[in-house]
Amino acid sequence: MSTIFSKIINGEIPADIVYQDELVTAFRDINPQAPVHILIVPNKEIPTVNDLTQADESVAGRLLLVAQKLAAQEGIASDGYRLMINCNRHGGQEVYHLHLHLLGGRPMGPMVQRTG
Ligand code: AMP
Repeated sequence: MSTIFSKIINGEIPADIVYQDELVTAFRDINPQAPVHILIVPNKEIPTVNDLTQADESVAGRLLLVAQKLAAQEGIASDGYRLMINCNRHGGQEVYHLHLHLLGGRPMGPMVQRTG
């Protein structure tokens, strides 16, 4: 069974793809939480951060380097931005295909919701 993100990567369903190479694909989030909200996704289906192995070191590094490149391309590098990966239930993960959120274009507020 392939994930919704695999279908985007393979071109089976449409998305606003902003970057693609042999290891990762980046596209705009369908429900953006900031003026810039891009998801950077390994082409290979890795469900969560928990599933990364030593063999994934280059793809894991590529996620960050592509985020850096896209932040510059989107004009948000100097003001700053937030990079976020949700993992499993407590992390609030909805799609079980590892992805790095690149969020910016406005102040992103506190790092996590305050509880009291
Ligand atoms: P997470 O909660 O970290 O798993 O985030 C999943 C993200 O995927 C959410 O921000 C969704 O808005 C986004 N998303 C889900 N389906 C699509 C899609 N077809 N195209 C683009 N983004 C999507």
